[in-house]
Parts: sequence; structure tokens; C-alpha cells
Amino acid sequence: MPCCNHPERAAIVECVNCARGICAECVPEDPQHACSAACHTETALLNWRLIGLPSAIFY
Ligand SMILES: [Zn+2]
Ligand SMILES: [Zn+2]
Repeated sequence: MPCCNHPERAAIVECVNCARGICAECVPEDPQHACSAACHTETALLNWRLIGLPSAIFY
């Protein structure tokens, strides 16, 4: 699977939100591997809902 930003490179992980590939250079310093800020936010929101933090935090 190629990296979503570098088609010529092999991905080492896939985005936890959209399952696109992420190469070593693009992988964020985060346990939740997300290909973009949008995916990262979506994933974080989902996780926070799952563990029951108050939604008021986001507004
Ligand atoms: Zn993604
Ligand atoms: Zn890349």
C-alpha cells in the first residue's frame, strides 16, 4: 500500500479513520495514526466519546 502523500513510497501504517497508507515520513507522533488533521480530529472525537468525556469540552 502506498503512502497517501507519497505514492512512490510504501506505507508503514494506515490511517485509523480512512485506512489510507502513511509512510514513515508522514506518520504523526501519535498513537492514533491519522493521514491528516481532519482524520486525526475525527478519530480523537470518536475516542473521546467512547471513553465518555463530556462533549462540552469540544464547544
Ligand atoms: Zn485518514
Ligand atoms: Zn508519506
